[in-house]
Amino acid sequence: MKRILVTGATGKTGSLVLKQLRKQSDRFEAIGFARSPAKITELFGSTAGFIVGDITDKSSLESAIKGCDALVILTSAVPQMIAPPSDGKPPQFAYPPDGMPEIIDYQGQKNQIDAALQAGIEHIVLMGSMGGTNPNHILNKIGNGNILIWKRKAEQYLIDSGIDYTIIRAGGLIDELGGNRELLIGKDDLLSTNPPDGISPIIPREDVALVIINALIEANARNKAFDIISKPEDAPNATVTKNFASLFAQATGGM
Ligand code: NAP
Repeated sequence: MKRILVTGATGKTGSLVLKQLRKQSDRFEAIGFARSPAKITELFGSTAGFIVGDITDKSSLESAIKGCDALVILTSAVPQMIAPPSDGKPPQFAYPPDGMPEIIDYQGQKNQIDAALQAGIEHIVLMGSMGGTNPNHILNKIGNGNILIWKRKAEQYLIDSGIDYTIIRAGGLIDELGGNRELLIGKDDLLSTNPPDGISPIIPREDVALVIINALIEANARNKAFDIISKPEDAPNATVTKNFASLFAQATGGM
């Protein structure tokens, strides 16, 4: 029985991961960490099995993580629309001043890794994003946040921490059913700069949740960092991914 802390558990992927872990109650005791009791209650019915806290507050993390075996980091800065599209111009987005990527995606993830180190956690699964090898990526321009740059700095901090890591850099996330696609592992953004058969580098959040849960189970996922996308459901010659040990065997360590 492993006790797992899932941060960002009220997020779109984080809530899926927590719900799926709770379905495997013979194997996992899953604790959610999130900042809004109202949002927790809206998504899960009550705050039972949650610790309310903020990743910018080290003390709330330190008490949440005590007694856990693994940590799943699904927190991220979230840009907010500050002006809707008008006159053919696209919508404008910005981050709140206390929610900039440097504060959340770097310092906030670093706080979690430091708390995990202090608590003797054996494994951290960190969800990142594809695109980080390109400093001029359009996502870095949003709100002058350089979000992909800060995410990669946190990934390097995790690798350097000495804790077993699994860094999962997803392609574009879509809200479709999981478990119906062949998943493809890559590195250095090659799956988006040079995608096989020209497919879109996207993946359902439910599939990412499956990858995260299997990363907590399969020894092959330890000390690996990889990009991940999916083939379309109707792709010719696609074989739905069921064997996660073989999938993780294709991944490599280091950035
Ligand atoms: P999401 O819904 O945006 O969730 C982010 C979570 O972080 C939310 O639960 C948010 O809390 C939490 N959070 C933010 N600041 C916090 C703080 N100070 N303290 C505690 N919690 C805090 O995430 P997602 O869309 O599922 O994405 C998951 C990850 O994949 C993110 O790292 C994202 O960047 C990455 N990714 C996204 C895409 C894409 O296409 N969107 C593609 C590749 C990778 P609240 O619920 O209270 O707001």
